[in-house]
Amino acid sequence: MSLNQPHYRSIAATLIRRIVLLAGLCLLAMTLLQAGLAYRSSQAQVEHAVSEIADNSLPMLSLSLWDIEPEVIQRQMNWLAGLPEIGRARVLASTGQVFEAGALSSEVGGDTPPTHMLEIVSPQGGKPVGQLQLWVDPGYLYHQILANTLTIAAGYGVFTALLCLVVAWMLRRDLQQPLQQIARFASELKPQEISRPLVLDRARSDHLDEIDLVTQGFRQLQGELQSHIANLDGLVAERTQQLEKLIGEVHRLSITDALTGCFNRRVIEERLPSEIERARRYGRPLSVIFADIDHFKTINDTHGHAAGDAVLRDFGTLLLGQLRNQVDWVARYGGEEFLIVLPESDLVHARQAAERLREFVASQPAIWEGMVIARTASFGVAQCGPDEGVADLLARADAMLYHAKNEGRDRVEVSG
Ligand code: GH3
Ligand code: MG
Ligand code: MG
Repeated sequence: MSLNQPHYRSIAATLIRRIVLLAGLCLLAMTLLQAGLAYRSSQAQVEHAVSEIADNSLPMLSLSLWDIEPEVIQRQMNWLAGLPEIGRARVLASTGQVFEAGALSSEVGGDTPPTHMLEIVSPQGGKPVGQLQLWVDPGYLYHQILANTLTIAAGYGVFTALLCLVVAWMLRRDLQQPLQQIARFASELKPQEISRPLVLDRARSDHLDEIDLVTQGFRQLQGELQSHIANLDGLVAERTQQLEKLIGEVHRLSITDALTGCFNRRVIEERLPSEIERARRYGRPLSVIFADIDHFKTINDTHGHAAGDAVLRDFGTLLLGQLRNQVDWVARYGGEEFLIVLPESDLVHARQAAERLREFVASQPAIWEGMVIARTASFGVAQCGPDEGVADLLARADAMLYHAKNEGRDRVEVSG
């Protein structure tokens, strides 16, 4: 993985993280709401308790005060203070007597004002005989709200945690695992195994989902790539064939003399040494013939350079046509001078070949633009000696050609 690339985190892990965060926020909101509801419900409960006290305890306190029964009043105070909602109860009798019980759980000191004050009237009615003061226990409210809220929050928390676990498991199974499988397959796929099918390790289903669509898309891409590669292979083969043909043509042109169609001098330099070497190794004869058109300059001077070209072309064609087989070959040595190489030919055979050529050249005048241009040629023949190199062999054949020219032209002279 490159340094600049952001680090990997699975989609499933990100989704799970977000779901857990959302569930946590919901849990918090739920807890706050529940706390509010619990507070209201606890207050309603307290009000209900106070109204019950008013209904039940006030008549009893009225009688006790009227009959002056301090023990009964005190017992009643103790009972009231013992109620869970009430932290402290006090009766102020109109006689000035005070009966009190209980203490507020949160009371630190001092006298906090009572939360409820109820008038106690005489049993006959009308005349007040005292006042019942009640302090609702704040600890009771606090515990009520806490217990109520925690129960609900814990239940919701457990439910949410279980839900998150199930969702996480499903995300891993249905999303993370197949996606990771696709990613692994794509990264490991090599061009030479492009047809390898992408098979996911997941339960079969009667419907398609996004993973199936990705898989189908991937398979389609593989198929198209495969046919594209096949097309490219065909195209490459076709181009290679064209290229090979062109290379062959370029090679042919590079070794061919453009005017006469014979080999050019390059071929003599490249091929003749190996021909001599081969003949020597197998103990076979090899001869060469230098052929030069006689008084060619006069042809040029008389008929023009274009006519000279035509005579040269005709001479080259004639030499090529007279070659014995695929073994012999002819190259333009320069100007109007040609070298004929005869592997597997000794001097006798080479002389015969040269004679035949000489006769043929002399008997077949060139025709150019309706004009008959007679021409003869002289020939110098030499057979390669046992230890002779290219230069010496050509020098001997050239010397024979020179000799033929000196002897009157239209002749064959043989070395040795
Ligand atoms: P010899 O019988 O002694 O060989 O006489 P020659 O006239 O044939 O030989 P020389 O070397 O005096 O002249 C050769 C001429 O061939 C000179 C040159 O202009 C001509 N020549 C060389 N190459 C070409 C060519 O490609 N086309 C034409 N038309 N003439 C060429
Ligand atoms: Mg000449
Ligand atoms: Mg010449």
